[in-house]
Amino acid sequence: MNKIADIRSGEVAGEVTPPARRSPYFSQEHEILRAQVRRFVETEIKPHGLAWEEQGYVPRDVLRRMGSLGFFGIRYPERYGGSDMDALATVVLAEELGRSTFSGVATTALVHSEMASIHLFRAGTEAQKDKWMPRIIAGEVITAVAVTEPDAGSDVKAIRTFARRDGDGYVIDGAKMFITNGVHADLYFVAAKTDRNGRPSRSLTMFMVEKGTPGFTVGRTLDKHGWRCSDTAELRFDGCRIPVEHRLGEEGKGFYAIMQNFQNERITIGATAMGEARAAIDLTLDYVKTRKAFGAPLWERETIRQRLAMLAAKVEAGRALVHHAAWLAGQGVDATKEVSMVKAYCGELVNEVMYNCVQFHGGMGFMRESTIERMSRDARVQNIGGGATEVMLEEVAKRM
Ligand SMILES: Cc1cc2nc3c(=O)[nH]c(=O)nc-3n(C[C@H](O)[C@H](O)[C@H](O)COP(=O)(O)OP(=O)(O)OC[C@H]3O[C@@H](n4cnc5c(N)ncnc54)[C@H](O)[C@@H]3O)c2cc1C
Repeated sequence: MNKIADIRSGEVAGEVTPPARRSPYFSQEHEILRAQVRRFVETEIKPHGLAWEEQGYVPRDVLRRMGSLGFFGIRYPERYGGSDMDALATVVLAEELGRSTFSGVATTALVHSEMASIHLFRAGTEAQKDKWMPRIIAGEVITAVAVTEPDAGSDVKAIRTFARRDGDGYVIDGAKMFITNGVHADLYFVAAKTDRNGRPSRSLTMFMVEKGTPGFTVGRTLDKHGWRCSDTAELRFDGCRIPVEHRLGEEGKGFYAIMQNFQNERITIGATAMGEARAAIDLTLDYVKTRKAFGAPLWERETIRQRLAMLAAKVEAGRALVHHAAWLAGQGVDATKEVSMVKAYCGELVNEVMYNCVQFHGGMGFMRESTIERMSRDARVQNIGGGATEVMLEEVAKRM
């Protein structure tokens, strides 16, 4: 049984924010979801996260458990096993996974549920969705999205992977880079050119490629600065033949699908980043209130207090921007400007927060054994992946 249904029936008790302090963007249902994710983080992520960091991936039984709790179907219809909630529910999930202090777990789960499978949900046929969505939502099939290439990151139009139509199928040749869940996924949503000479924005198409398809290989597992428990890989396609039923949407519509789905991805990253930032401030607060220097806790130093207070204010501002952008996106209006602001602002802010929190931990902040050290490494990619700050600011500037 889908556990978000339990949330609706009130069976899973508990709320996090007292009603009088609840943001108008969030309903009681959101708050109960928040309580449920928070409980999962405390009991099933935090005790094991370090072991997953060591082994380099999140175990499949944990992802299945998240599926069984309903975390992978928050936005998807009940007929596939989802709970049909809104963009703000995704924000709740991302904020709370971000607060876990294990951002690699957050990204493993959120790439699957919010960034990869959304390609199938939005562009797939009923037959494609009936086949895959229930297992995706249950966490039985894990997904990845493969857009980036060695020579095409920020510039999506520069993609060179090519899918040639051949009878009742397509033959894909090319390479992908930095693919999250790349090692352990079962189903990959792959962007490829289907027209070598057309306008780049009308030449891309999305395809589904199953692991094990001849001609498709997972290349190197990439060794990263942070997100150590999120598996990241290079992918290769050498004459990889897939049936025409594995095309997602019409030929030439891939670029628009990628741009549209980026909106959800960027809100999700912004929300995760603000969860990370809040957790960092909380644990730094605990540290400076107990750590003594010059005869008094560090918290007695005005400069430390005020810098932490200002960071807390900025994070609340960042969260408010995330919530507003998610609400706007949910209204069906074009929120590209606000979403790009979210990605730019939150991606930079989480790094500012981490820098200062490491500073206030002193030498301990530089030690592998401290949580803040891991968190500062994990945060570093938040202003690069899913749209680098400079690219996001150009999107904002274009709309000013
Ligand atoms: C850990 C990790 C996981 C990832 N997961 C995925 C995934 O699952 N699927 C996927 O498809 N991709 C994934 N990516 C790719 C990610 O989205 C790209 O790294 C990102 O879009 C930047 O592309 P790039 O690395 O090629 O940098 P480039 O495009 O080469 O840019 C390098 C830098 O130049 C600057 N820059 C770029 N363009 C401009 C501009 N117009 N104006 C000014 N400055 C600019 C920015 O500072 C940027 O960081 C992942 C990346 C990482 C690191």
